[in-house]
Amino acid sequence: TARRLQGIPPTIFAEMSALAVATGAVNLGQGFPDVDGPAEIIKEAVAALESGRNQYAPGPGVPALREAVAAHQRRHYGLAFDPAREVAVTTGATEGIAAAILALVDPGDEVILVEPYYDSYPAMVQFAGGVRRPVTLSLDASAPGGRLPREALEAAVSAKTKLLMLNTPHNPTGTVLTRDELETVAAFARDHDLTVVSDEVYEHLTFDAMAHIPIATLDGMRERTLTLSSIGKSFSFTGWKVGWATGPERLVQALLAAKQWMTFTSGAPLQPAAAYALDHLDGWPKELAHDLQGRRDLLCAGLREIGLDVTIPEGTYFAVSDVEELGWADSLEFCRALPERAGVVAVPLQGFYDTDAGKHLVRWTFTKQRDVIEEALERLSNGR
Ligand code: PMP
Ligand code: GLN
Repeated sequence: TARRLQGIPPTIFAEMSALAVATGAVNLGQGFPDVDGPAEIIKEAVAALESGRNQYAPGPGVPALREAVAAHQRRHYGLAFDPAREVAVTTGATEGIAAAILALVDPGDEVILVEPYYDSYPAMVQFAGGVRRPVTLSLDASAPGGRLPREALEAAVSAKTKLLMLNTPHNPTGTVLTRDELETVAAFARDHDLTVVSDEVYEHLTFDAMAHIPIATLDGMRERTLTLSSIGKSFSFTGWKVGWATGPERLVQALLAAKQWMTFTSGAPLQPAAAYALDHLDGWPKELAHDLQGRRDLLCAGLREIGLDVTIPEGTYFAVSDVEELGWADSLEFCRALPERAGVVAVPLQGFYDTDAGKHLVRWTFTKQRDVIEEALERLSNGR
């Protein structure tokens, strides 16, 4: 294999899901819901398939979806984008991440990643020949200067820094960055003339009246931010891989210049259905978040009851535990042993860090039905 693949381990999600299947363990590892999104949206997809929407879509995406995305950004955040030039449809946010990095990063350029980072970010930085510079996200919501303090950001920047990858609500920690924290990041990006790629796939999955704030809404940030999202988390269709990017024409067209050589266009028939979801079921993701909040509470209370320290997430569908107190020095070893010991799968976080801040951290998902979470908790209390 090519050098660009060397040193990148296989995605931990595949290893852990395979382990769950092989051992019959309850899978609280890979984040995917065990209940599909609204049947009404599925009907739209079937109708699109049956009514001949089966040939190539336009490169930037089906116009109805680009218009629905622009309307969504205006309705929720007051952000105005021209659907013709400032919105692009991607094959999941994953392709948006890949195309953005390949379009904007030259060999030797540096990219700031907030660790723990979603695992496709470092892989794509390496594909582009870039160099990643980690900034550790604090898990302490009352940390002075915020969870991404200016000093930590300054320590990671150099004259070669091009890009900062941001993710809020944050996978895997469940952190939802506050306005103050985002202002710190925005001032840093402006002062160093950085482009921000903001992964907001969990934008609607926030709890306790915590609101998601797109960094593009802050002063001077619209023109330097490429915002990514997708249908996967908001509408519980992670397998659809319909995503989108919004931003100034310069950045969206750069992303499309890379995308045209990757997939050319994204799958056509699911795009009208995604447009339908955004246009007609705008309230659905909030109901999902409300329901998820109850499952978050169930999981976190259960983990605490069995003696596992857990950070209460403000968003996403993940909670993080420190397993050091249970006597484990290594989260990967803990997670590899857990299916045999307890019949449960979780995801180790050490691979999402460059520093060893994640050595003892384990992620659990609560995007599973209540009885599945209860079963996992019962198994954990018997077998941990
Ligand atoms: N970013 C983050 C932070 C994610 O958790 C996910 C979901 N795996 C993605 C991007 C990818 O989203 P999609 O499935 O739309 O490609
Ligand atoms: N976003 C999901 C997670 O973090 C799925 C990741 C994946 O399958 N690559 O678990």
